[in-house]
Amino acid sequence: MRIDIVSIFPEYLAPLELSLVGKAREAGIVDIRVHDLREFATDKHRSVDDTPYGGGPGMVMLPEPWGAALDAIRTSVEQPPVLVIPSPSGYQFDQEAAAEVSDIEHVVIACGRYEGIDSRVAEHYAGRDDWAGVREYSIGDYVLAGGEAAALAMVEAAVRLKPGVLGNADSAVDDSFSKVDGAALEGPVFTRPPAWRNLEVPDVLLSGDHARIDAWRRQQAEERTRARRPDLPNP
Ligand code: SAM
Repeated sequence: MRIDIVSIFPEYLAPLELSLVGKAREAGIVDIRVHDLREFATDKHRSVDDTPYGGGPGMVMLPEPWGAALDAIRTSVEQPPVLVIPSPSGYQFDQEAAAEVSDIEHVVIACGRYEGIDSRVAEHYAGRDDWAGVREYSIGDYVLAGGEAAALAMVEAAVRLKPGVLGNADSAVDDSFSKVDGAALEGPVFTRPPAWRNLEVPDVLLSGDHARIDAWRRQQAEERTRARRPDLPNP
């Protein structure tokens, strides 16, 4: 899988060298390249934004640098990439979306700043035959200062689903939002020591009785899902 990320703050994407994603890069499972949008600006000030048509507060990102950056990435590859644009007004980026993105061969992520990217950029690339579509995704119902934090979240969620990335492939199947027939959220987890600051690990988890442990975990997951996320599936 290849992921290109375009941003005016390329240093913001440095955490993608660490941990699970960093290891996936080293193992050749994912090839991540970060680009500085300002290198594609056309004026001497390297401007990437201007005032919004129609008035109002803030600035809007210019379409020209975006067009130049995205076209340059496109000419460097043979297969059509999918353009992902993080946006609070996008479709919800949930576990299903993460799984879909992890199956895409080449994703280009356009990180907006200010009031966002001129809307013609999304429209233009959605209509081009040499691109495989445009997806605008929101990572939650709140507003970030830029798309970089959203890109970090989306890349990590997608890359950890690639075969060979997680040490134990079963852990993704057991995760919250991933269960086929169980409650949507995972229940509480514990490790050693059995007692810590007067808090004890539930006896059932020390019993060695796997049927009882499974039943307890199911029940805990259902209770937690009911209490915290009544909007999610819960048998
Ligand atoms: N004016 C925009 C609005 O209200 O929809 C907010 C723009 S926000 C300050 C700047 C950039 O941050 C966006 O273009 C997007 O790239 C990113 N962003 C902010 N919140 C986001 C979210 N919840 N999900 C994904 N991206 C987000």
